[in-house]
Amino acid sequence: MHTCLDLLAQSDSSLQEALVGEMRRQSTGIELIPSENYTYPEVLCLLGSVFTNKYAEGYPGRRYYGGQEFTDVIENMARERACAVFGAEHANVQPLSGSPMNQAVYLGLLEPGDTILAMDLSHGGHLTHGAPVSHMGKLFQFIRYKTDPATGAIDMDEVMSLAKKHRPKLVLTGYTSYPRDMDYAAFKAVADSVGALTMTDASHYAGMVAGGAMMNPFDAGFDVVTTTSHKSLRGPRGGIILCRKDLAARIDKSVFPGLQGGPHMNVIAAIAYTMKRAAEPAFREYAAHVVSNAKALAARLMELGADLITGGTDNHMLVMNTQTTYGINGREAEEALDAAGITVNKQIVPDDPNPPLRPSGIRVGTPAATTRGMGNSDMTQLADWMHEILQHPNNTGRIAEIKRDVEHFCAQFPVPGIDMTDLDLNS
Ligand SMILES: *Cc1c(COP(=O)(O)O)cnc(C)c1O
Repeated sequence: MHTCLDLLAQSDSSLQEALVGEMRRQSTGIELIPSENYTYPEVLCLLGSVFTNKYAEGYPGRRYYGGQEFTDVIENMARERACAVFGAEHANVQPLSGSPMNQAVYLGLLEPGDTILAMDLSHGGHLTHGAPVSHMGKLFQFIRYKTDPATGAIDMDEVMSLAKKHRPKLVLTGYTSYPRDMDYAAFKAVADSVGALTMTDASHYAGMVAGGAMMNPFDAGFDVVTTTSHKSLRGPRGGIILCRKDLAARIDKSVFPGLQGGPHMNVIAAIAYTMKRAAEPAFREYAAHVVSNAKALAARLMELGADLITGGTDNHMLVMNTQTTYGINGREAEEALDAAGITVNKQIVPDDPNPPLRPSGIRVGTPAATTRGMGNSDMTQLADWMHEILQHPNNTGRIAEIKRDVEHFCAQFPVPGIDMTDLDLNS
């Protein structure tokens, strides 16, 4: 990072200032957005490497440009390592991010107009799982399953009856805001009963699947698993599609030339590195620690009276109804916590009566805090701060005091890839 800052000091000081500002922001606050993380310094280095100069349309051994000796090496490494980490037969590491990754699967395995059974958005599903505002929502017919209002858990009886009624071609599991693992065998049985393919979008929790802290959908015979490479996997921003060998050709053609042009080889190099780290024993410890931190945070918040969706968590996140707990909406909660340097995101809850920009809850996750080395007792401290702030969101004097405590606390946990001495620049 130092060289980068030095270079910018010469050529573009306003950009350098913004970069230093972001480094300082990331170091001095506690990041609890469940989809964020701090990547490896080696990933930052590979993203800024000369692999960014190279066009490599096609796949290893079958490219449309010359000069591919090293791009073929890194793409094969990324594919082989991803297959080993997830126990998959085939991997495509070219999707530019999570959204085109899912689009490539739908467009490669289905026909426009086909039916997909996926999780309802307000119950935790992702935009790319058929939101009416997304292009995919217009191109395919999405049927949505929900969670049981009594327990907050996915209602498998409803999943089965929707499948019988609508006969989907694809049963899609995965979520962006749901604090539990899933019964993949039950989903597979639903899909088999109507002859549908099975896919899970593990973008949020792939790190825990890789590290053995959550179930692997391939163990239940799933056909396709997609995941972003950022989020809990700690890699660069990108997408990975894992699938059975007999679907490989359709998936690969769908990514390129179906949907995309040249792959981002700097990202693919960084994915290869990320997969090496995900296979190490230390990553198993990390994944288990992410979950134990989420459980510790949830336990203390509930002790203090918080209303958590499903009454707890068995993954890396919790979803709190701030409206029922503290009488404030998710935006007010997000803003009050932000003022103390604690970053969460506002979140719609199942069948939320409030609009998305003023929803009833927040989503809180532990992958980034765990990467910094925060542990179970730190989560208890964090829960106490959060509770005090959310109880008194307008007490700006007290919130400013907590912000100082948070900064002091964060100084014990350096962010990988950020050299604290760089932060003295321009300050
Ligand atoms: C984050 C996410 C995506 C989209 O990833 P982008 O890189 O933001 O396009 C897709 N699906 C799920 C479940 C996600 O959590």
